[in-house]
Amino acid sequence: MFDVKRIRADFPILNRKVHDKPLVYLDNAATTQKPRQVIDALVNYYSRYNANIHRGIHALAEEATMAYEHVREETAQFIHAPSSRSIVFTRNTTESINLFANAWGRSNLKPGDQILLSEMEHHSNLVPWQLIAKATGATLAFVPVTDEGRLELGALDRLLTPRTKLVAITHMSNVLGTINPIADIAQAAHRVGALMLVDGAQSVPHLPVDVQRLDCDVLAFSSHKMLGPTGVGVLYAREELLESMDPFLGGGEMISDVQLTASTWNEIPWKFEAGTPNIADVIAFGEALAYLHRAGMSAINAHERELTGYLLKRLSEVDGVTLYGPRQLSERGGAVSFNLNGLHPHDVGTVLDAEGVAVRAGHHCAKPLMRHLEVAATVRASVYLYNTTEEIDRLIEAIRATQAFFARSAHAKV
Ligand code: PLP
Repeated sequence: MFDVKRIRADFPILNRKVHDKPLVYLDNAATTQKPRQVIDALVNYYSRYNANIHRGIHALAEEATMAYEHVREETAQFIHAPSSRSIVFTRNTTESINLFANAWGRSNLKPGDQILLSEMEHHSNLVPWQLIAKATGATLAFVPVTDEGRLELGALDRLLTPRTKLVAITHMSNVLGTINPIADIAQAAHRVGALMLVDGAQSVPHLPVDVQRLDCDVLAFSSHKMLGPTGVGVLYAREELLESMDPFLGGGEMISDVQLTASTWNEIPWKFEAGTPNIADVIAFGEALAYLHRAGMSAINAHERELTGYLLKRLSEVDGVTLYGPRQLSERGGAVSFNLNGLHPHDVGTVLDAEGVAVRAGHHCAKPLMRHLEVAATVRASVYLYNTTEEIDRLIEAIRATQAFFARSAHAKV
């Protein structure tokens, strides 16, 4: 059985109070909390074997290198990548996408080529492509979003042409919660000879993800959204693709030989990891992966589905709530956006915070999607493995308190 109580006991921060109320943390799509196993791994590394990796021949360097490279193996296994040579450590999803956009895009795109994105992309999977399009003369096209918050897949026939060189789409929307049918999109992309890049920032933490089943060529995600530390991202790309690409950053570690005027490159994946990497945080990320693996990604997903169903039901019972995104639980994850009639999302977020409930209010780095929804911002509650239905009840109580608070202030002003 999925033992939430036991899981919660591993997260010290969940015991704290905010404004004298027990914390209800529902901002998991922004970043997640860390279990003590991850925190301990950081302390252990700095207390016992802090050293620079790959280059040293002393015991500490050896231990640190082994631990760092072991996490590369664990990461490959976590997403079912055929080899750890396909795993590049970066700082976050944003850097992973920028790395690929630059290292692949600059030498593979030319005027007239097309990059196909969607209207629901996070700025991280939009702005890098705008920059690369500008640099190479390629153009951008977009899969539209329907009123129900799904991708309009019927448009793919029209949008995918032999000019399409890359399809870059999010697996799960950070605003609508929509889970996109990546395997189908990848198949359609490959039919016209395009590569498929998946923004997995919101999916890898919450669903079992298998890059071979998805048949994607590239996948990007962040440690901090899956119980790990900030400052670690992952770029998965098929080995042949990484082999064929030039480096993104130049410097130490990524070279095989250096002359005064030219250099040759290290093997993959090190060719893409210039300079001293984020050793401590990568090692602690390994503990996060192990934690998720022990809890079981299918069990986590089932728990989140239950919470999401409960959250959607309770929210729809509140007067004046507008919900965004699909209602079908099979088509969505646990990032739930909503607005309260007549109230600014930032005001809602502030009053919820006063009640000890942490949610996000804003454009969620998805301004084009906000325009499509015809709102400036939304409130977003997002769940993870340690959340409970009781916490959702606290959110709903706090929402009702917010509505009552603003109704009283409006009344007082008259
Ligand atoms: N893509 C999606 C769908 C996201 O939700 C996020 C973060 O919220 C990102 C990309 C960017 O992640 P990071 O800030 O870790 O680079």
